[in-house]
Amino acid sequence: MASGTAYRREQPQNPWCPRNHNVELYKAPPNKAATTRTRSRIPMIDRYALPPEILHEILLNLDFPSLGMLRRVDTTRRYWVESLPAYSLLKKHASCALHNMHTKKCLSYFPISWLLAEFRHPWCRTCGDFGPLLYMATLTRSCYMCNERRPEYELAAVDAVCCHFALTLKDLKSTPIISSDQYKHRERLTDYSGAKALGRKLHGSHQKMKQACQDNKERREQNHKRRL
Ligand SMILES: [Zn+2]
Repeated sequence: MASGTAYRREQPQNPWCPRNHNVELYKAPPNKAATTRTRSRIPMIDRYALPPEILHEILLNLDFPSLGMLRRVDTTRRYWVESLPAYSLLKKHASCALHNMHTKKCLSYFPISWLLAEFRHPWCRTCGDFGPLLYMATLTRSCYMCNERRPEYELAAVDAVCCHFALTLKDLKSTPIISSDQYKHRERLTDYSGAKALGRKLHGSHQKMKQACQDNKERREQNHKRRL
């Protein structure tokens, strides 16, 4: 392998190299490709970064708003998020649906892997027909008939659900809640079937849930009478 040192002959016609060591060494100009490579959009590899497969698994379990915030941290995090195929696919092909979910304030309940799986599934989850609709409360693809008639696609007001199934807002913390601006006041809606199942699970049985609901009702009436 060559030493990397080059000499410039002062007299090219002389076949012998100069013997004195005061010869000025040739200095090559800096490589342009090497200087431009440092300005590339691809950031330097983080020493503490996880392997790409594990990193992608973690990012797929984040919701869309969290990925948007992570993207704004620095160029490395931006590269992580933008190199995620699920993120770029959803942003390119489902921006309208994502915007609607964002305005209804239910986008942060679902990880990006779930969003991608549901958007790529073209059939109704209940009957198997073509499902052009998306039931936002549980992020489920459905056809028009199922969405109109089936009880699992029914929404209810959060206040009514808490009253009928003896739940508190703390119990509904992990349940998707949709903010509807259809009426003059902003109403909060949730999935009726899911809330009912949650009430049964928390109270143990349907009878105990009804009993807790009746107890809550009597307590509220006594408080009302006391105030009068
Ligand atoms: Zn259907």
